[in-house]
Amino acid sequence: MELVWFRKDLRINDNPALYQSCLNGPTTAIYFITPEQWQQHDVAPIQIDLMQRALNHLSVQLGKLGIALQVIEVNSFVDIPARLVAYCKQNNIGNVYANSEVEVDEITRDIQSQQVLSEAQIGFNLYQADCLINPGEVVTKQGDMYKVFTPFKNCCLKMLRQEVNLHPYPAPVIQGAPIENPDILLPLDKINSSAWPASEEEAYQSLQKFINLHVEDYHEQRDFPALSATSKLGPCLALGIISAKQCVYYLLQAFPTLLDGNATGPVVWLNEILWREFYRHIMVLNPHIGKGANYNPKAKNIIWNNNDEDFVAWCAGKTGYPLVDAAMRQLNETGWMHNRLRMVCASFLTKHLLIDWRWGEKYFKQHLIDGDFASNNGGWQWAASTGCDAQPYFRIFNPTLQSKKFDPNGEFIRIYLQQRQGINSKQLHEPIKPIVEHKFARQRALLSFSVLKAQEHQGG
Ligand SMILES: Cc1cc2nc3c(=O)[nH]c(=O)nc-3n(C[C@H](O)[C@H](O)[C@H](O)COP(=O)(O)OP(=O)(O)OC[C@H]3O[C@@H](n4cnc5c(N)ncnc54)[C@H](O)[C@@H]3O)c2cc1C
Repeated sequence: MELVWFRKDLRINDNPALYQSCLNGPTTAIYFITPEQWQQHDVAPIQIDLMQRALNHLSVQLGKLGIALQVIEVNSFVDIPARLVAYCKQNNIGNVYANSEVEVDEITRDIQSQQVLSEAQIGFNLYQADCLINPGEVVTKQGDMYKVFTPFKNCCLKMLRQEVNLHPYPAPVIQGAPIENPDILLPLDKINSSAWPASEEEAYQSLQKFINLHVEDYHEQRDFPALSATSKLGPCLALGIISAKQCVYYLLQAFPTLLDGNATGPVVWLNEILWREFYRHIMVLNPHIGKGANYNPKAKNIIWNNNDEDFVAWCAGKTGYPLVDAAMRQLNETGWMHNRLRMVCASFLTKHLLIDWRWGEKYFKQHLIDGDFASNNGGWQWAASTGCDAQPYFRIFNPTLQSKKFDPNGEFIRIYLQQRQGINSKQLHEPIKPIVEHKFARQRALLSFSVLKAQEHQGG
């Protein structure tokens, strides 16, 4: 008997582990619920709810294929290898199939699982289904990982044009008579996620709708939070309800000359998928950043202010800067925040308030429905100027100017800040009782972050 082990790949299409398992013999499936591990990873209650819904859709789809899904609860990843091997022995499993993940605890879990399975003479087959290209394969002529996004992206595009097979794996063949798999309940706090797609079918519909209606305007509209101009596929990508490869494959179906740089909107959207790719490759090749380290070692010399009251005000959307406050309320009320606003809020926390980016990274992860370790860490380290190809340290967003530029009529701000309803569009962007004054904050940040520059000059 073959066993496919699901994790953040909650789909039956473009799932090489599932496909290969079914090809090799009668297949059954397993999923481990790990409440303590998820709490330790700060998985947001709204993402737990989405995960529960996605798992139930998956279990129905597997049932239709005649594949039984066994769900086992343990506390943490460390408990999995022993339970897995016991399950395999009890059920006469000869081979386990899974898709790899990029985060450091997940990689450790797989190494440990591989060891115990191999001691028990059970095969463990890992596939790569999360990235477009295997991490470690997009390298310079010297064989090193790119440290700057643009050459990384260009190398990816070349590989996508020439050598990467972008055809998604088909759904596996039916294994037997339909099975009714039991309902799955995740024993953790949940926040209703029903506004978001949770099945493969819904994710695919969202992708097609975005490709048909929005992607051609993406480059012009994506920065305006009042518009619904982005795909909102992040939550599905984070849980593997849809794969990055499927996104690019269907985008290419609609825009066949995309990889040659034709079609501006789709090219810019593909760029964003490649930022996701960039952060994943960095994560695999620099596992220390998965454990809280700055990507740039020089950044350890930044002296953070880390004021608790400022942090609480930022979390609650009470900084006095309308765009920052509306954005934080969007996050708190909906579990999602627009990309432009993620950049503005992260810059404000790290530069204006001089609060360690790790505090913000954790808060975002605890609230985002699309919380994803690699993209979140990459985004925070980018904004804090501590990351790989990050924002230069002296670039400090002016929240008032960002507001005027990206929400000129205040449409977004008015949704989340009731008290600003009556204020005219000219006044709307100005801070009221700000917790920190912009000019002062800017000077303070420049001084604190200048350690990055000072050390560069010393050749450090
Ligand atoms: C501080 C900060 C924290 C972030 N945290 C997360 C996170 O936890 N999870 C997450 O998926 N993204 C994160 N991002 C990236 C980005 O903000 C979101 O991916 C995007 O807003 C999701 O909206 P969308 O699905 O409509 O994306 P679209 O604009 O439609 O883009 C399509 C997909 O490309 C990927 N993508 C887009 N922009 C980026 C980017 N800058 N970096 C990496 N991948 C990108 C996402 O998977 C996204 O769903 C963060 C960015 C910042 C600045």
